[in-house]
Amino acid sequence: MHPIIENLQKISSHIPDAIKLIAVSKLKPIEDIHVAYNSGHRYFGENKAMEIKAKWEALPKDIEWHFIGHLQTNKVKYIAPFVHLIHSVDSMKLLQEINRQGLKNNRTIDCLLQFYIATEETKFGFSPDEAAELLESENFQSMKNIHICGVMGMATYTENKTLIRQEFKTLYTYFSELKNKYFYNTQYFKEISMGMTNDFYIAMEEGSTIVRIGSAIFGERNHITT
Ligand SMILES: *Cc1c(COP(=O)(O)O)cnc(C)c1O
Repeated sequence: MHPIIENLQKISSHIPDAIKLIAVSKLKPIEDIHVAYNSGHRYFGENKAMEIKAKWEALPKDIEWHFIGHLQTNKVKYIAPFVHLIHSVDSMKLLQEINRQGLKNNRTIDCLLQFYIATEETKFGFSPDEAAELLESENFQSMKNIHICGVMGMATYTENKTLIRQEFKTLYTYFSELKNKYFYNTQYFKEISMGMTNDFYIAMEEGSTIVRIGSAIFGERNHITT
């Protein structure tokens, strides 16, 4: 059996049906995605606009494409026609552009608000106050071509499982507060995207509904990304 299929089956067997497994294929060739696709997998994640667009063009159209990386406003137009869920909305400006491109493409684009939960300096995302400001703004309330479907976060990259668990608990709390305050009657506000190769077991224990797993499926990535 191909190692990618073996990895996928092994990981899937540890993930309950209610949790969606996104196979993160960034920096991996089309052929690798084909292998996973042919074994039945349909949910893939990418973190670069041009790369996800090229892969969408090259691969079968029943794939659900998830955008999980920092998204520049001027790149939204490349993914707006097909993206299934943007996990990484981290500013009002970006959300406005997604709404604008949604309108242009005559569709509603599903989004998650990314929260900053890690202790590292480099991670993007809202604080609870920033998210509240966005959600209470008239600007947001006038946006007709986006749906906020939940939250996303990345834990600190560390061996410290206590810290990781704490960060995921924090994200769960943010989700619950937003649900109660702004989305109580919104059926589609239900997703918590958390958990990667290093920490998805902890994430699932802390209430994750979507996990994003790359290297445990496709192998280590070559980190030269210029
Ligand atoms: C790369 C990436 C992943 C997958 O990382 P692995 O450690 O390879 O599982 C998940 N989420 C985001 C946002 C990523 O950039």
